[in-house]
Amino acid sequence: MSATAEIDPAEAKEELAAIAAKSGALVSGVAAADAFGEAPEGRRPGDILPHARSVFVIGGAQPRAGDWESPNYQHMEVTTTADRMQTLALKMARTIEDRYGYYAVCIPPGVDYGQQPFMSIAMAADAAGCGSRSLAGPVLHPDYGFMYYGAVITTMPLPADKPLDTPACPAPECVAMYKDEKTTPCMKTCPIDDGGCLGGCIEKGRFVDRRYDAARCTTRVQNYWVPAFQKVLHETLQEKDKEKQKMMLYSGIFSRTLWSMTYANVSQAQCAECMRVCPVGYEHRNKK
Ligand code: SF4
Ligand code: SF4
Repeated sequence: MSATAEIDPAEAKEELAAIAAKSGALVSGVAAADAFGEAPEGRRPGDILPHARSVFVIGGAQPRAGDWESPNYQHMEVTTTADRMQTLALKMARTIEDRYGYYAVCIPPGVDYGQQPFMSIAMAADAAGCGSRSLAGPVLHPDYGFMYYGAVITTMPLPADKPLDTPACPAPECVAMYKDEKTTPCMKTCPIDDGGCLGGCIEKGRFVDRRYDAARCTTRVQNYWVPAFQKVLHETLQEKDKEKQKMMLYSGIFSRTLWSMTYANVSQAQCAECMRVCPVGYEHRNKK
């Protein structure tokens, strides 16, 4: 198709969805660029790409069931599945530009100034109906549960989807558990009032008054990759004892951190105990 040919937006959306599915996405959807009013100024689609009309979202590349089962969580620090969605997002951006002739930019997975994402991919996934925010934090897909997302901002007008009518969280099992115990699997695993990070209530089948100790959670999930590199390097530079300094540089954690940055390349939360116990998508994590 020539980039200047007339394009039916609905057909183009279907075609993009088919390309995404064929390339490994489990879900895809579109958020309207003006659906990001809640995002801070500077973190909206038009701030990254002037005249943005749509955000095309893809999701998939979940960790394997075996990854969740492994007692050696360190193996996940040097592996990644998340970057598959980023690679696919780059492919979708190229397709939009080459095939349809519109500008397209991937939302980068890293952080901008203030350690903030350039734009919230979670907000995009939620707005595109590819999943919904959960009490534990990550966007969950009603069938697959936890997965990774990528998103492409484009000037192409695509028919927008809408957020899910019924959010994936809380799952019916969690609603029942909350009725009996005033907690859910994720809150019980990481209770904010007992050394953990998560709290909240369930009312009329929806979670409300969510509480999240981001600072505490960060210390548990960011012990590898760029934040760990910064921490270890800082400590190492302070160390006066040359032998000890050498041990720190050649330590397992520092080596693994370098592996995770150079090989795994995309942040994967390494605690994720709240996700391990989440019933959403459990059937995909349950093998023989
Ligand atoms: S990732 Fe870990 S520390 Fe953070 S909320 Fe989940 S269980 Fe708690
Ligand atoms: S366990 Fe999962 S579905 Fe249940 S409340 Fe927590 S995040 Fe939501």
